[in-house]
Amino acid sequence: MSGSGNGGFSGIRICPRCGKPVWSIEGKRRGSKIYYYAVHRNILPNGRVKFTYCYLGPRYYTYVKKTHQDYDIDFKGAIEELEGFPRASSYLSELAVALKRQVQAGTLPARKALELANAIERLAGLAGELRQYAEEKAKEEEAKAMAGGEEQ
Ligand SMILES: [Zn+2]
Repeated sequence: MSGSGNGGFSGIRICPRCGKPVWSIEGKRRGSKIYYYAVHRNILPNGRVKFTYCYLGPRYYTYVKKTHQDYDIDFKGAIEELEGFPRASSYLSELAVALKRQVQAGTLPARKALELANAIERLAGLAGELRQYAEEKAKEEEAKAMAGGEEQ
């Protein structure tokens, strides 16, 4: 295994931006926010080491949140993805909570409520397919782990 000393992050992480292994994560403070970068360690043909950076975003995209205030969701940066939080599922859970709150408060206009119901029905239609996919994928991953021992 290569890439030791990667700043407190255990194991090899894959950069959500470029797909290369992440050597370390750096946070740069600008004002009151911290912006994160994935650091890649590249060996040049002449043997020298060159570091390149991929921007991962702030931990929370608060400027996006402002335009989505109705839904009260924290739009998470790529840093969250890197740390193993699947973003899509956390958006959906937070959305469910926010919608319920709006329904209970009676603040949701009728047309919007209908549109949302339609969209959610389409989404719900995917649940069975996703479960089936997960089952097949788990078998595939298990088989791969058995056959390959450890990859990277
Ligand atoms: Zn990258």
